[in-house]
Amino acid sequence: MNRMEELLRAFRNIADNPKAQLEKYRAEGKKAVGCMLYFCPEELVYAAGMIPFGLWGARTQAVEAKRYLPAFICSVLQTTLELGIRGAYDGLEAVMIPILCDSLKGMDGNWRYSVPHIPVIPVAHAQNRKTEAGVAFTASQYRKVKARLEEIAGRAITDADIRDAVSVYNARRAVMRRFLELCARKPGLLKPSERNAVFKSSCFMDVREHAGMVSELVALMEEAPAGEFKGPKIVTSGIMADHPNLLQILDDLGYAVVDDEVTHESLRFRADVPETEDPIEGMARQVGNIEGCSVLFDPEKNRGKMLVDLAKKSGADGVLLVLTKFCDPEEYDYVPIKRMLDAAGIPAIQVEIDQQTAENAQTLTALETFRGILGY
Ligand code: SF4
Repeated sequence: MNRMEELLRAFRNIADNPKAQLEKYRAEGKKAVGCMLYFCPEELVYAAGMIPFGLWGARTQAVEAKRYLPAFICSVLQTTLELGIRGAYDGLEAVMIPILCDSLKGMDGNWRYSVPHIPVIPVAHAQNRKTEAGVAFTASQYRKVKARLEEIAGRAITDADIRDAVSVYNARRAVMRRFLELCARKPGLLKPSERNAVFKSSCFMDVREHAGMVSELVALMEEAPAGEFKGPKIVTSGIMADHPNLLQILDDLGYAVVDDEVTHESLRFRADVPETEDPIEGMARQVGNIEGCSVLFDPEKNRGKMLVDLAKKSGADGVLLVLTKFCDPEEYDYVPIKRMLDAAGIPAIQVEIDQQTAENAQTLTALETFRGILGY
């Protein structure tokens, strides 16, 4: 096994074993705080000397969570709550819960009732996130989060601590953007499942450790010959493109993911936190600068324009829209985005993914057909 294979296996192992990661950090005497899904202010957790730990659900069957959530709530929240009730997140000091969609608005209360031993820190972002008033509102909410984190950490979080954390996080964002660029420049070097593991592992690792591993991988990818890739090249878009069956199908059918507009993947790394005198204000401004996400207010549908640009720039043959089942924001975005892709002459297909489903025969058929449409 060469060094690149070793690294890719290590990313996969971490991505598949979050509980082991949590236990490792706890054994080192570190506290960890859960960051549910989107745009939690991880830098504040890191500035307090704690580990931000991503909560994005998992492929499992929700049973206990159904006592609290109706069946039409997305499987990301169903399985996240299920794992919380089953004790998979025991050891977290608290969990930050954003309220960026209607389903998330009810998650705070459901979590408090069903997982009472892990306290909730609500995270509110301004709907009008780009205006000065919106930035001020988001910053005011982050200050409340900071106060809660200080209680948990048992120490004050200074502006200098936050600036250091922002600098470490921006450095990791930069190396992840180099990784993204190499995936586009050398399609086929990594399988879709391997590419996914590099992103997913970032949710469960100390940012410095993750950045170090990605830097090493990027150096190896730079050295590796590009080779001639003969399969279909796609850009993915959606909340998550993480289901093991979907990744296996993409691997088996010889697809290469040359770029993405996936909230769980590249959207976490595209926009740096601006350096501002007040570092919390910079963090609030960053949320205003993120494009391409269905849960952030986007009246001009810049997401569609960005997707068209990504597909053209990366040389993709088509776009795969991965719809998380029962996700309203994604369903609302689909029609305008598909129209924009059609107008630009970019082939696109949508597949619906549910983390509770073990069978994905329809996805296989759709992606076999799409490969044929793309001429492979
Ligand atoms: S945005 Fe969609 S996938 Fe995310 S929590 Fe809300 S409904 Fe679920």
